[in-house]
Amino acid sequence: PRAWTLASRPNGTPTHADFALIDVDAAPLNDGEVRVANRWLSVDPYMRGRMNDVKSYVPPFAIGAPMDGGAVGEVMESRSDSLKVGDMVLHMQGWRDEATGPAAAFTKLPALDAPPQAFLGRLGMPGVTAYFGLLAVAEAKEGDTVFVSAAAGAVGSTVVQIAKAKGMTVIGSAGGAEKGEWVRSLGADGVIDYKAGSVVRALGEAAPNGIDVYFDNVGGDHLDAALAHARPRARFAICGMIDVYNDAKPTQLKYLARLIGNRVRMQGFIVSDYMNRAGEFYAEMGSLVASGKLRGEETVFDGLDTAPDAFLGLFSGGNTGKMLVRL
Ligand code: NDP
Repeated sequence: PRAWTLASRPNGTPTHADFALIDVDAAPLNDGEVRVANRWLSVDPYMRGRMNDVKSYVPPFAIGAPMDGGAVGEVMESRSDSLKVGDMVLHMQGWRDEATGPAAAFTKLPALDAPPQAFLGRLGMPGVTAYFGLLAVAEAKEGDTVFVSAAAGAVGSTVVQIAKAKGMTVIGSAGGAEKGEWVRSLGADGVIDYKAGSVVRALGEAAPNGIDVYFDNVGGDHLDAALAHARPRARFAICGMIDVYNDAKPTQLKYLARLIGNRVRMQGFIVSDYMNRAGEFYAEMGSLVASGKLRGEETVFDGLDTAPDAFLGLFSGGNTGKMLVRL
């Protein structure tokens, strides 16, 4: 088996030289353990944070050790009563072609009518983020005007569709006209191409009466534009700030003081805060998927060798929908 390791800690935007593919030994199984052939690997923006040697909500990747991350695989060998050969499982030993360990570290995929890789996207971590970020953190409700950034990505495109299914008006921003058209096809009422000009101006045109909710995936100018157009008592769910992950310098926000007069409530959150509400999530998202109201576009790279390309593509907008590696 082979696994990707972190070769060096990036300074600014990561490059291929920061990754190294190594051979690893196939360990014999102990009682209670399983061997899994990975079929799908997830690459996610939060992994950029794990490349830095700083204290965060997830520990940093160790130099030279296999990196981990979300993955879906098939059980090939089992010395556990709870999993059998052929079971499809979700787990955290991504960035490699084979995973072994105690059966408890692998979760059998829920019996929902969706392809296995959906559990890395709209029915997985990004879906949980979108669902609870929008409904629990931002307390978005029918009639609200919602602005979401990185709207053509895994989390953002799910936010757009949940918001539409619940009767909200949605404005999504993404890089380029083509992504904008795709976001519109998901039901968005307005789209912004942030690469074409000022976000603050475009948001003013798309939402002349202001916004009630901002779902932030980007930070920087997008957050500032959302502050500029926040209606009184607007709620901001701060999910991610991909615009600053590779940045050394702090961001200046021109409209920060609007927080005060407009009584804006801004709350950051981590998806793990909501993992214990999986039952509620699968029930509602499962029926949205079944009814065709929650589409899941994927951008797929093929083969373990391409994992760094897939990961680096997240920072240049190489994906529409969920970025995945197929093995
Ligand atoms: P995406 O599928 O959205 O991929 C990232 C996208 O971000 C790219 O496709 C690109 O689209 C956009 N992007 C990249 N750089 C910039 C930039 N400088 N300015 C504006 N847009 C940019 O990733 P995810 O859906 O997995 O994650 C979205 C966000 O949610 C991230 O910030 C991530 O960290 C966060 N997140 C937070 C979680 C939490 O627990 N709080 C959990 C999961 C995700 P484009 O072509 O439009 O530029």
